[in-house]
Amino acid sequence: MRELRGPSVSHDWLKALNPARGARLSDAHFLTAFKLRVGFRIVDEPMLCPECGVAILDRACTHALCCASAESTKGNNKVRDSLLQLVSLVDAAADKEVPEPTPSAPTLRPADIFTSAAVPGCQVVLDVGIVSPDATGAGPDCCEAMFQKKLRTHEPYLEELERQHIRHIPLAFSTYGRVCPEASATPTCIAQRAARRKGLVSHRGIPRRAMAGIGVQLWRSATAMTSTRLPRATPEGIIAIFGDGFDGESHVSSDEPSEVESTTASSQSENLSALNESGSDIDLGEDHPDKSMSGSGVCSDLGSAMAD
Ligand SMILES: [Zn+2]
Repeated sequence: MRELRGPSVSHDWLKALNPARGARLSDAHFLTAFKLRVGFRIVDEPMLCPECGVAILDRACTHALCCASAESTKGNNKVRDSLLQLVSLVDAAADKEVPEPTPSAPTLRPADIFTSAAVPGCQVVLDVGIVSPDATGAGPDCCEAMFQKKLRTHEPYLEELERQHIRHIPLAFSTYGRVCPEASATPTCIAQRAARRKGLVSHRGIPRRAMAGIGVQLWRSATAMTSTRLPRATPEGIIAIFGDGFDGESHVSSDEPSEVESTTASSQSENLSALNESGSDIDLGEDHPDKSMSGSGVCSDLGSAMAD
């Protein structure tokens, strides 16, 4: 519950229903996201995670948000892109995936965003990380754990960056939308500069809308990570269970199944929709340049795979 009631959590994704007003979750993703949010049962029985083949996928699928995968990397990239939209209001030259200017560390993964918008008078490396509170090593505050991990990774190179008037700012998000103080303060700082440039009376609506967009991307990622682990229902399998009358869309087949069957068919249809949508939403070819560190995101071990 801490992840949901924290003051930094944006719940605006729940109200983002109009596609004409920015990012929103699809219907199927919204339902799965809501189930994840309240801890509702998503699978009938615990099962072996089909992604890692090691951990148990519990009924609420919390493990899905801890398991490193292509979807977690893509989620990290989507949050980065959402943040870049805000940054671009101040710094049109801001770019993503910029190699960090640290000659002594050529293997350091590129900066998520390299910009002058976040801190007046200097360039900043914005380093996005998403972490599940259930991840190994997440501790009592997963955002703080992710923040500290990123600081440790960059500590050997901070002097090198400072000599070039470059700062490194980790931005840690939990999979449920809570953020570290820096991930809350940085959008506010950027919004204040954007408002001054645009001559606005107040900047207040800007960071809220930015965090709402990031919230949508966080939940879209969580839903994709969950949906791809659900048992895949094939059309042949559905016909074998429900008969030819089940069309994959309606919840009641023509041969009028019992109430229990109807409920199961409904669930099956939802899963199919979620799978189809997640399938269209996931570009497995868009792997992070450094996938071993990518989890950018979300993985089960803060000390190893989980990182940037
Ligand atoms: Zn797994």
